[in-house]
Amino acid sequence: MSKECPVCRLISPDIAERCDCGYDFATHRIAASYANPNDREIIAERGMTVAQVGTRNIKLGLGAVVAGLVWATVVAGVGPGRVLRGLGWPAGVMIGGASVALRGLGQYRRGKRLETTGPFL
Ligand SMILES: [Zn+2]
Repeated sequence: MSKECPVCRLISPDIAERCDCGYDFATHRIAASYANPNDREIIAERGMTVAQVGTRNIKLGLGAVVAGLVWATVVAGVGPGRVLRGLGWPAGVMIGGASVALRGLGQYRRGKRLETTGPFL
């Protein structure tokens, strides 16, 4: 048997206590990662539940989408010649932000399911 991490969806063996992303299967929270102890993202998420990590990623992702939109608007307002040159960046930021927000949404849903059904179902 194996178990799937609700945060990063990595499959771990049944005896694993902690995922590489720092998720602790016993406490259902993010702890220090054994695999990446110096990862700043993981350190920032320490102590959070899966749903909280999801909420954080939704906010981060949507923030990037809004920033990309504002950026595109500002660049577009500068002049038609700059739109084509400038749009690559904000478009990348928006696509990246949207994917982070979607990942966060999945984490939030899995986290809420964990909280309502309990870890042993
Ligand atoms: Zn994980």
